[in-house]
Amino acid sequence: MSQNKLSVTILGSSAALPANHRNPTSQLLKSDQSYYLIDCGEGTQSQLRRFHLKMQRIKVVFISHLHGDHYFGLLGMLNSMHLLGRTASIHIVCPSDLKEIIEVQLQAGGGRMQFQIEYSFTDRVNDDRTLVYEDDQLQVDAFRLKHRIPCTGFVFNQKEKPRSYNAAEGAKHNISIKDIPNIKLGQDYVNADGLVIPNKQLTLEPPSPKSYAFCTDTLPLDNTVEQVKGVDCLYHESTFSQVETKRALATYHSTTIEAAQIAKKAGVGKLVLGHYSARYGDLSILLDEAKSVFDKSILAIEGEEINI
Ligand SMILES: [Zn+2]
Repeated sequence: MSQNKLSVTILGSSAALPANHRNPTSQLLKSDQSYYLIDCGEGTQSQLRRFHLKMQRIKVVFISHLHGDHYFGLLGMLNSMHLLGRTASIHIVCPSDLKEIIEVQLQAGGGRMQFQIEYSFTDRVNDDRTLVYEDDQLQVDAFRLKHRIPCTGFVFNQKEKPRSYNAAEGAKHNISIKDIPNIKLGQDYVNADGLVIPNKQLTLEPPSPKSYAFCTDTLPLDNTVEQVKGVDCLYHESTFSQVETKRALATYHSTTIEAAQIAKKAGVGKLVLGHYSARYGDLSILLDEAKSVFDKSILAIEGEEINI
């Protein structure tokens, strides 16, 4: 039966420097049985191991931008995948410069991966949502954020699942196994007496598809409000407390209050804060600030799986 479960596990929640036992940015998005990695800061593969998440199940990696705290873990992870015998290809959605960086490192090591790396580049992504990846589970759009270097936000939309067969209802009408595939395809059922049983009666409504938006590292933008409108869950970086609003502006980052205002204006289901500056040991001040604007705010805590 189709589940359409979407969740995100936080692997790294720290800004630039690993500090306070927090790691640089990475998140594992799970849609049913499919795994997608979002950013891959240093130490990501160790975090995956620590939280018992199977690295080889990752089929796609999304990299927001090429500051080291968002991708320095990628080569190490790819190398481990290779050493552990991976043969299935992996897809990387990223700025095109990353391909060269990966290839230089692989060539210098004199080796080749025994699996294919496929790329989709985000260089031409603009303010409007652009499709950058699609499979049977998800459609992923990207849009431009504003940081010191080109940076993309991602919106992950689950696809609608087909209606599933209602076995209890089928039994009432003595439907045989050979007729089930047609019912799953949407056909009505006609019984021996010529009575039509409508498809809707024999099938169950699929769970509603969920959506997740990931926005790091960026100034707060009006355009982000437009692009993430109504998503079930928004991750928006909140590197600083509102006390550091000027510093946030100077470094092209956002504060808790700014992230919460975007969440509120966009009418999202919930807001996840993260990318915390190393200056914050205790994160409760950041959470309290965000909640003063948008009550459905939560902290990204490493190892925690957030159901969307
Ligand atoms: Zn960063």
